[in-house]
Amino acid sequence: MKLDTKAIRHLTAEDWRVLTAVEMGSKNHELVPTKLIGQISGLKSGVHRNISNLAKVNLIAKIQNAKYDGYRLTYGGLDYLALNTHRKSTSIYSVGNQIGVGKESDIYVVASAEGIQRVLKIHRLGRISFRTVKANRDYLRNRTSGSWMYMSRLAALKEFSIMKALHENDFPVPVPVAQSRHTIVMSLINAFPLRQISSVPDPAGLYAELLALIVRLAGVGLIHGDYNEFNILIEERKMGLDGKTHSLPDIEEEQELDALGNAPMLEGGTEVKEPTESITLVPTIIDFPQMVSIDHPNAQYYFDRDVACIKRFFSRRFHFTSDEPGPFFAESIKVVQNRLDIAVEASGFSRKMAKELDAYMKEVGADGIEGEGRAEGEEEDDDSELEEGGVLVQPEVGALPPTEDEEVLASQGGPVTAANLR
Ligand code: ADP
Ligand code: MG
Repeated sequence: MKLDTKAIRHLTAEDWRVLTAVEMGSKNHELVPTKLIGQISGLKSGVHRNISNLAKVNLIAKIQNAKYDGYRLTYGGLDYLALNTHRKSTSIYSVGNQIGVGKESDIYVVASAEGIQRVLKIHRLGRISFRTVKANRDYLRNRTSGSWMYMSRLAALKEFSIMKALHENDFPVPVPVAQSRHTIVMSLINAFPLRQISSVPDPAGLYAELLALIVRLAGVGLIHGDYNEFNILIEERKMGLDGKTHSLPDIEEEQELDALGNAPMLEGGTEVKEPTESITLVPTIIDFPQMVSIDHPNAQYYFDRDVACIKRFFSRRFHFTSDEPGPFFAESIKVVQNRLDIAVEASGFSRKMAKELDAYMKEVGADGIEGEGRAEGEEEDDDSELEEGGVLVQPEVGALPPTEDEEVLASQGGPVTAANLR
């Protein structure tokens, strides 16, 4: 589903209020009765015009053959509510190009008001179909759009909480900026997925570093669970003579070239010795909705699979195979300090939520157990995740307009705040 921000500028304060009312009503109703929408929004003048405005641009929708008159929130409506929250908190000012389409997410480059580029990840669970349907699972009994949205929120909340914990503990992950509903905003990593890297100067070094990260994660109680060449971004940095790292353009600018663009030659035609600079590959890990605790019943399986993924990729792509066995799960969890899995649970992504999301992942096969998993599936999936130019695309400027005067809301008894829905 594309993110279409065109209609945002046309929504009035009352439209926003009614949209928020539909979201609140969705907590208890699959189909929110029109009457309830009116009550929650508290608009005296009636809500029919606002409802029709919102339905026209597909932010809310009717359900066919419903027993009563009502509306449900669409993914588009949820997108708008989240964008509006990000806009108000100034984490997003404009939305640019889509740079990734995962199986269950859309990735956009966005910019803050100061022009800082960031990444907006919109979780869209429910896009892939169930492999099996087990009717006895509570959360599945009602496979409504509402429950997909709930699962997407859980995925976003989990991903954000984990990213935050990892970032605070100096793991190489994007900087988490904000989370609202089914979306997160994070820093843009100026790098390409390992999948797109055809050769590296020192495969053994990178291999060791990536495996060491798996062990380090286990050491804080976590297993990535989808540690593959799509979820590891590799930035190339040159280490200059000054011992500092430079991104590539820096170095190029500093090099002295003659008028023809050649490196200067010494008298006698001896070429100037290349400065002894080395290229460092800096990995960043992304994509955390499927991460599991080392206490998970299948922890060892996930750990081994993450390790195997790296081994397989390095052997196929770089023809590199290590002589050393392991790393092994049992050894990696011998000394566990600073349990981030427990910290994440305490930070708002509760054990109950974890169970619900876990059950969902199992159901759609995203855990990869029993048959084709996502890790395997992605491998076949060529380079379709990134458009040409990858992460370096510039966002088109399409500023999110301010919503209508918020004073209008205040004068009508205060806005229905979205904050408590987050
Ligand atoms: P999915 O769960 O759909 O796989 P990911 O979080 O892995 O979503 O993101 C999909 C793709 O988007 C990644 O493979 C990467 O190319 C790109 N991407 C995601 N987050 C970032 C980021 N912070 N910076 C740069 N590129 C990113
Ligand atoms: Mg991914």
